[in-house]
Amino acid sequence: MKYFILTLGCQMNKSDSERVRTVIEGMGYGWTDNEEEADLLGILACSVRQKSIDKVYSRIARWNKRKNSSSLITFVSGCVLPADREKFLKLFDLVFAMSELPEFPDMIRQYGVVSKFAVSNRTQSQLASKGEPVNYQGTPMTSLKLVMPPVERIRDFWSLQPSYISEYEAFIPIQNGCDKFCTFCAVPYTRGREISRPSEEILAELKQVVEKGYKVITLLGQNVNSYGLDKHGAELNFPALLQSVGEYGKLSRREFWVYFTSPHPRDMSDEVLEAVAAYECLAKQIHLPAQSGDDKVLIRMNRKHSVADYSHIISSIRRLLPGATVFTDIIVGFTGDSEQQFENTRKLMEAVKFNMAYIAIYSPRPGAASSRWDDDIPIQVKKERLHILTEELTRHTIEYNRSLIGKKLKVLVTGKDRKPGYLSGITEGRIVVRFASTAPVMPGTFVWLGITSAAPYSVEGEVVNKEVSLQTTV
Ligand code: SF4
Repeated sequence: MKYFILTLGCQMNKSDSERVRTVIEGMGYGWTDNEEEADLLGILACSVRQKSIDKVYSRIARWNKRKNSSSLITFVSGCVLPADREKFLKLFDLVFAMSELPEFPDMIRQYGVVSKFAVSNRTQSQLASKGEPVNYQGTPMTSLKLVMPPVERIRDFWSLQPSYISEYEAFIPIQNGCDKFCTFCAVPYTRGREISRPSEEILAELKQVVEKGYKVITLLGQNVNSYGLDKHGAELNFPALLQSVGEYGKLSRREFWVYFTSPHPRDMSDEVLEAVAAYECLAKQIHLPAQSGDDKVLIRMNRKHSVADYSHIISSIRRLLPGATVFTDIIVGFTGDSEQQFENTRKLMEAVKFNMAYIAIYSPRPGAASSRWDDDIPIQVKKERLHILTEELTRHTIEYNRSLIGKKLKVLVTGKDRKPGYLSGITEGRIVVRFASTAPVMPGTFVWLGITSAAPYSVEGEVVNKEVSLQTTV
């Protein structure tokens, strides 16, 4: 029995898919890259952009055609809005919230697929008594109705052992949901309110991945730096969590880099930056979404911070973490974003000189508050603004990358580069580095490179410490 999952959207979905894989493989299914031969096909959906939702519909239409000639089961989970959920119920065999993943084997059992997980002490009549709806084939299926409080359900989900996709990179979820309600975003409606994961579980998972040899570990959440606030003092806050991670890093005597994404400017404090500065294993790279460089637009976005607040945090980063790289997210063409307001965003980029900016063209998502407003910036204008900001970004990335020429940097090898005979890697600041190598250096190996040239979004280097590079493996 084979399975295939299409994972759309952000790192949170990618991290969730590692737990989905564990559950499915526990039922005896094996992964296939070829969806045509899969018996179980699933999608982890993303509701951030319409394009992602369109992909869900086109993929399930194709899979449902296959149902005329073969027996297969389809499911969808991830970030799904209530309106889409209703439509998905008619198209997929199973629709479930990620927090219901521990019950997935029971759901599959309803389709008569026998697996070691499916033979549990819960009977079908027990499930049926909860009033499952009937899917489009007339088969009873598990509903989205919550049978346990959300906190317990998500804790069950977190306790699942992930099947890490990468050999050197692991994502550790530290919270679920979001309380911020930015007007352009549907996450608070798809994932619910913020729930922090117990810190002892996070630290246990961290130790496990470090001991297995993972080198890049990302603490994941929609608002990582509000971690613990929902527990009102009964849990560590985010700076304290980082300190615990840092202390473990010191004791472990292993080399690894820990990142976190995404923090919210509203909850960013000097304590967070001081913790990053104090410990070697906490990577000196900060991803801080700005979204806009104009106060009125930020108010309409309900971002709860001003441009001055944002700039103040950037000054703190420069002061407490000199040399750290700074990444951001920007939206162009948000409803009502005037030429002058757009220009203010460009000015913010000019002032901060980001090392990377993920610039997205605004499109309304049903369910998000801004979807009720006119999407009044013409697409051509949005594209022009994207182009202007990309040029602005490139001016700063090339300048920074050139400043690395002649320096010796520690680089983590991530795999083969597109250029024949070259490998790719990342610096601690997540700058992409390419270097020529005839030796088979394993992904997950640290090498020391002398930087020889720079391009807008990468640099090139030469190995300067072959002994280290060829002996250290994952
Ligand atoms: S902070 Fe804003 S953009 Fe981020 S998940 Fe929450 S609502 Fe969405």
